[in-house]
Amino acid sequence: MQVSSAGGELLPMDANNIISFGCRLNACESDIIKGFAEELGIVDFTLINTCAVTAEAERKLRQTIRKLHCQNPDIKIILTGCASELHPERYIKMDGVVGIISNRTKLSKSEYLKYATDKPAVFNLGHPKVRGFLQIQNGCDQKCTYCIVRLTRGNNVSFCEDDILNRAKALINKGYKEIILTGVNISSYGRDMEPKRNLPFIIRYLLKNVPELTRLGLSSLDPADIDDDLIETIKSEEKLLPHIHESVQSGDDMILKRMARRHTRNQVIEINEKILHARPDVIFGADIIVGFPTETDEMFLGTKKLLTEANLSLLHIFPFSKRPGTPASLMPQIEKKVITNRAKELRKLANDILTKKLTEYLGKDVIILAEDSENAKTNSFLQVKSSTKLVTGKEYLFHCDSVHKNVIIGRPLEKR
Ligand code: SF4
Repeated sequence: MQVSSAGGELLPMDANNIISFGCRLNACESDIIKGFAEELGIVDFTLINTCAVTAEAERKLRQTIRKLHCQNPDIKIILTGCASELHPERYIKMDGVVGIISNRTKLSKSEYLKYATDKPAVFNLGHPKVRGFLQIQNGCDQKCTYCIVRLTRGNNVSFCEDDILNRAKALINKGYKEIILTGVNISSYGRDMEPKRNLPFIIRYLLKNVPELTRLGLSSLDPADIDDDLIETIKSEEKLLPHIHESVQSGDDMILKRMARRHTRNQVIEINEKILHARPDVIFGADIIVGFPTETDEMFLGTKKLLTEANLSLLHIFPFSKRPGTPASLMPQIEKKVITNRAKELRKLANDILTKKLTEYLGKDVIILAEDSENAKTNSFLQVKSSTKLVTGKEYLFHCDSVHKNVIIGRPLEKR
């Protein structure tokens, strides 16, 4: 059995698979589901953890289900995730689909008992244990007008710190070198708890109680939730990796308002200045949506300017995709051609900004974590390639010699 991710590209077909579409959270949940399947001997089914973030994601899902059934008409497919949560009536009718597990209960083992057998099930992950994802919450209380996820995952539910601690220890015992805290909106962690907790609390709690955890990273943060407590934690906790990814979405305040985002462009600039002052080695990443309804050329220009004003280097650019059921789908839409051109233009700019940022590292030494024998990431999540062989999962002091296609090329100086 295999776990494939992102595009859900098909692996050599056999009777059972776990296919994970979409975000890191889905990938993290698919690993947990893999654990259930191993334990319960679920060997005769293929499980797909679906995504509904864009219409394109759902098109790929339907294409995958049809391909799986075409390759093996006896296949038994179980669906879970945001797409099957949103349209169960549509997916249950598809050939090969035998069951749908709700997004809200997909992490309870009891949901899988009916598929259990007494056959042994041994799964390999298909990738070495370097970076593990640790879910700390699910759902979201915000109401961004373009977002379908809040409709498919419900309100913010934070996991209790002891459960998170046990799963962190389990990842370390499995040999993972780095843990990334993930969820739908991790910056809202603890708000629903009594007594209240927050993201800085769980970061400090994990680093205090798992001394073997030397590399802790954060998935996407809502700029509106980055406060002085979190900035102080980023400053003082050395084992917290200096990579901050923010769901910025736009550089125009009117568009941010129409998205129902709770931050302004100036707040992003100020927050990032504060973080850089506290921890100068931080690299910022950001999600940006281009072509949001009513976005004018001038508003788009505001987004372009924000990339440099807020020191954003690692960009994920998303062409706006209308999602039926969201308020944004009812707003006056921008022409598809304009959206495509803006995405292309912003990706080019983002590429140039990253190249400029990477040249700042030439001649310097950095710490890297090897992902395989030649590829690795720096602590701030920059991609590097080694001219000499690396050992997967090992940390190295690494000398940066050159930059090629936005990858730092260099050589290890010593193992850490
Ligand atoms: S913060 Fe907004 S975009 Fe993110 S999950 Fe919540 S509603 Fe969706």
